[in-house]
Amino acid sequence: MSSVAAELVDVRKTFGPTVALDRVNLRAYEAEVHAIIGGNGSGKSTLAKVISGVLVPDHGQVSIFGKSATTPSESKELGIANVYQEVLVADECSVLDNLFLGADGLFGAAEPHDVRYERARQIMADLLGFELDPDTIVGELPLSIKQWITIARGMLTNPRVLILDESSAALDFEATERLFRKIREMKADGCAIFIVTHRIAELVRIADRATVLRDGLSVGTLEQQEITEENILHLIAGPERERA
Ligand code: ADP
Ligand code: MG
Repeated sequence: MSSVAAELVDVRKTFGPTVALDRVNLRAYEAEVHAIIGGNGSGKSTLAKVISGVLVPDHGQVSIFGKSATTPSESKELGIANVYQEVLVADECSVLDNLFLGADGLFGAAEPHDVRYERARQIMADLLGFELDPDTIVGELPLSIKQWITIARGMLTNPRVLILDESSAALDFEATERLFRKIREMKADGCAIFIVTHRIAELVRIADRATVLRDGLSVGTLEQQEITEENILHLIAGPERERA
């Protein structure tokens, strides 16, 4: 039995009058691709941020490898990386600088420029399928490459828990395949990967388990053999549609 990487118990998160998450229970294991699926506004990104410690729940517990983090930097120390849904890059900076934005606390100032440059070159070639000079200024690059930069930034921290929030949104089918190949490699190394998505076809291809959110509630977790479009749609739709 592999160990629990992330566990949420009875989590609630509100924004003023909006209840973004309520009574959310979830457990993800090491070496598992765990999908979070749900409609627009169902609380997926809020859940991603609660897992990664960026948002603190109003109620309930979040633990990562059995420990609870109370600040984003503690979460990072526990090995969490969250690739946000918003593609956050500094246009005026190089690919290299974007990849290691805010990374100094993680790698220490000891990592020489050449080492970073080579790591950046390698991961981008691996993900893009072609060479991209890490000194390229990001500004003029297409959105898909900017999205790859945010994905690579998360992966470069060698996370034990990686959260990808709609990270394939700007990627075509072939690029998504490359992302999935990389995800399978990380999984083989024991990483727990959360894939947040509203694209059911994608998660059928990659997920080991899938938790479904509806209006902020976790309405079920499907095991791999249960992950079908029909089952997911059924859970997303809820009882009202069942009666219709
Ligand atoms: P999803 O990622 O599934 O589309 P979100 O987690 O982004 O859903 O949002 C869930 C709900 O919480 C939505 O109603 C959204 O408007 C609200 N929400 C999310 N973030 C904030 C915020 N920072 N301030 C206020 N409301 C928010
Ligand atoms: Mg979202």
